[in-house]
Amino acid sequence: MKKKACPRLILTVVSIFVLFITSCRTSLPDYSNAALKSRNTILIIGDGMGPEQVKAASLYLDGEEGQLSFETDFPYRTTMTTHSLLVPITDSAASATAMATGQKVRNGQLSVSAFSGRYLKTILEIAADEGKMTGLVTTAHVAHATPAAFAVHVYNRNHYDEIARQYLANPRVDLLFGGANDNLPAQDAAEAGYTVLTDTAALSALAYGEGEKYLGSFGDGHLPYEYDYDYEGTDDLPKLSEMALKALEILENAPGGFFLMIEAGRIDHAGHANDLARNIYETLELSNTVEQVLTWAAGREDTVIIVTADHETGGLRVRENNGAGSLPTVRWRTSGHTDADVPVYVWGDRAGEISARIEDNTDIFKVLVQTE
Ligand SMILES: [Zn+2]
Repeated sequence: MKKKACPRLILTVVSIFVLFITSCRTSLPDYSNAALKSRNTILIIGDGMGPEQVKAASLYLDGEEGQLSFETDFPYRTTMTTHSLLVPITDSAASATAMATGQKVRNGQLSVSAFSGRYLKTILEIAADEGKMTGLVTTAHVAHATPAAFAVHVYNRNHYDEIARQYLANPRVDLLFGGANDNLPAQDAAEAGYTVLTDTAALSALAYGEGEKYLGSFGDGHLPYEYDYDYEGTDDLPKLSEMALKALEILENAPGGFFLMIEAGRIDHAGHANDLARNIYETLELSNTVEQVLTWAAGREDTVIIVTADHETGGLRVRENNGAGSLPTVRWRTSGHTDADVPVYVWGDRAGEISARIEDNTDIFKVLVQTE
């Protein structure tokens, strides 16, 4: 019996080696003629927003399930899987990469192929190449994994200096709004052609044409939790809905249309902390943002909106509805991410077809981009 184990081990090692070499040599897709299928594409991501996060927020808002804006006003909904290349539980980097490029990578990687490190072209870069305007909006800091996956290519999501360098070295993002990151100082951004905004007043005063590219760099790190917005010192910091609406006000002027990613980045953080109140308030502000985006989009036939999540955080289970205005009784299973399928809501251009074709997070790219 012992003699058989050795060839089996050799076979396994050889297989892994062949897989590694093959993946290094496999040519990446040629997206030179790729284009976005809709004139305007709005991808809205609740970081860490699984089905039970949506349920808990709706119960708190209304005492009933299914009452968030994207649940009541979007005609199609489905669910999708989120696993990364090698493990069932993804992180934000691998899941955002899957949505941005249609390719599975390892956790921590941002839009580089898993083993060779070659750049994977993103939906935002494809949009920029065909002359559309592009925007990234987040309540996390601007160099955080989810927005970064759409515009930069790095092996390690924590290399914020390299992420910042790439944002500015080849600026494909016309509008980048979120929490400030030390690696992206205003002066460097201004030298790269960005008009820099640092408070709510500057954001609300901004009008299309007052510059070519816009960096909203607010506060110090991630923006505050929605739950904490009323305390002193947050007056100058915009909320997700304010940043998203200003982004639309600017991008709607783009002659060829736009791609916009909006992230509620801190549902995840409240999930890691098993902090139900903050988790719910973050989700409700996302619902409020979507409601306002829908008001903007009403009557348009050239716009598609997808609301989804990168993964679930916390293993949340709602146990009991305690009525509107009261936190439901829940259980958290973990302080980490889980492999739960996440909800997907679709509105607008080709919504039915899109909803029917989404099963996995890589499908988000595939339904939004024409690659040939
Ligand atoms: Zn997380």
